Amino acid sequence: MAKIKDIKFTLREYPYRKPFHITGSIATVAVNIEVQVQLKNDLVGYGEASPSFRVNGERPEMLLAMENQVREMLIGLDVRQYRQIFEITDRLTATPSLKAAVQFAVLDSLAQIYETPVSFLFGGAKKTLETDKTVGIDNLENRVKDAKQIFEEGFRIIKIKVGEHLREDVEAVQEIARVTKGAKYIVDANMGYTPKQAVEFAQEIYRSGIDIDVYEQPVYWADLDGLRFVRFNVPFPVAADESAKTKFDVLRLIKEEAVDYINIKLMKSGLSDALAITELAKAANLKLMIGCMSESSIGINQSVHFALGTGAFEFHDLDSHLLISEERFRGKFAQNGPEISIGEGWL
Ligand SMILES: [Mg+2]
Repeated sequence: MAKIKDIKFTLREYPYRKPFHITGSIATVAVNIEVQVQLKNDLVGYGEASPSFRVNGERPEMLLAMENQVREMLIGLDVRQYRQIFEITDRLTATPSLKAAVQFAVLDSLAQIYETPVSFLFGGAKKTLETDKTVGIDNLENRVKDAKQIFEEGFRIIKIKVGEHLREDVEAVQEIARVTKGAKYIVDANMGYTPKQAVEFAQEIYRSGIDIDVYEQPVYWADLDGLRFVRFNVPFPVAADESAKTKFDVLRLIKEEAVDYINIKLMKSGLSDALAITELAKAANLKLMIGCMSESSIGINQSVHFALGTGAFEFHDLDSHLLISEERFRGKFAQNGPEISIGEGWL
């Protein structure tokens, strides 16, 4: 009954509502792989991989080519023993977003057997969360206009992408802060600054009287000395995103005292490493945020249930489904502006 009968991958494309520009990348379409895990009792669990070449070195074709391999690995296994399945799928080190999708689809099928939301399998810590929404890189006028609109939509946590041009970034953050008073800011440089530039940016923002709640990945992912330099020379908490993919990366970041925050993304870590990272962070007194790649609603659903179930996160950056267009909303949660909660049907 609870054994896996078949696994199916489907390529899906979702156009961005507006080209999404971050340091070193402009995306016009999200190309994702939907994963279906079908059980012997015909229940189907859903997952979604949003592969990132920039962060993980993944291409959609690489994931699609793994379909038979994953089938061979998992057909016949019992989803109630999902730790066994996590152990096996931990071997998908070259395609972490696929690992996340398969692991979640397994839990989604198990949740249907138990007639409970997936978040309850993780512990059911919370029933609601607040997400931010992101302002991409653009000219000053459009950045300010986008931020204002996000604020008017009710979002009180605004993520601002920076990292391509220091002077323009400083001006953009100053102007955005002027028109969104009372908002909190996550500023993400996506590795765009040198350590010295990263410090200069933060000090200028601080001198303008603006507070940044999380300063994400100011420098190159492998430059842990640079991260530590920024951490100890700016007045804001510094987060690792691109530097923190696996639990082993996070252990190293802890040993190097390189950051205050970790941005967990299921697409970098899968569920198994994401679970380990939440415990590592707790033990090391690091704070956590949860982010996303280019997931649609079915993919964001994974991070929503993980975040609600573990209750581990100070900030939730789960907005990719709001930036793309899809024919229908497929999340197993309710969304009202920035507020995300477990839908009534899933309690
Ligand atoms: Mg980031």
